[in-house]
Amino acid sequence: MKVEKTGEIGFCFGVRRAVDMLEKVVAERGGVETLGAVVHNQQVLQRLAESGVRVAESVSDIKDDTVAISSHGVAPEVEEQLKARHITIVDTTCPFVNRLQNAARRLAESGFFIVIYGDAGHTEVRGVLGCAGGRGLATLDEEDIFKLDPLPRRLGVLSQTTQIPAHFVGFVKRLIDGAFGRDSEMRIIDTICHDLRERQAQALELAGKVDLMLVIGGKGSANTNRLAELCSAVTETHLIETAADIDPAWLEGKQTIGVTSGASTAKETIDEVLARLEELD
Ligand code: SF4
Repeated sequence: MKVEKTGEIGFCFGVRRAVDMLEKVVAERGGVETLGAVVHNQQVLQRLAESGVRVAESVSDIKDDTVAISSHGVAPEVEEQLKARHITIVDTTCPFVNRLQNAARRLAESGFFIVIYGDAGHTEVRGVLGCAGGRGLATLDEEDIFKLDPLPRRLGVLSQTTQIPAHFVGFVKRLIDGAFGRDSEMRIIDTICHDLRERQAQALELAGKVDLMLVIGGKGSANTNRLAELCSAVTETHLIETAADIDPAWLEGKQTIGVTSGASTAKETIDEVLARLEELD
């Protein structure tokens, strides 16, 4: 059995940066609270918890005078609440998320209604909508926009950083088709994360060459689910959180196995999966 992994695997740039910042603060202060989970990966959260990182579920839960906000960022009103309580912020927001937040803020200030192609319940998207000052909505279905009455004349269209580029393009195209003739002006900014774009392209290429793909990452991680969705259109694919999730029956009759991971999967977890595959060979 031949096992091949993608070049882009393990922590992305933004998660690496966030984890490094947290580890530095923990080393200086002996521990730190984070506002919500910093990454959507149980193994990483557990490791951080063991080193002294505690999760506060809301601003009112924060007990310390310092809090770290996650790589997904937060809405300006949350920052205001923290400042009002004189809490020092360790801001691990990924620069790609900052870019999206700034685009939403700029367009909203120029009078555009913000449309975010993304999951309305995701932390990142809620933060971006906050930057739009409430003048926007997030959806994966253009019909939600056409239902607005009246349809805003100026639309600023952005994407959640983790979406699949081709799906965003399809959404934008359908939006253009439906909004034209309604006297609309549209401004579209590509805000998909560069790191994920490369990761998705590599995963797709590998999926085309193997009998089975294993995508390692949190089941609640948006980017991991996107990777699995992309690969499953090409070959048999399983999303696994750890080596223990591998069902030996999947490997029967398979010659080549591809391995990739979501952006918040630690190297240790990937190494364990590779070792388990070797064991099962
Ligand atoms: S996936 Fe992209 S946007 Fe998200 S944290 Fe990683 S580098 Fe930043």
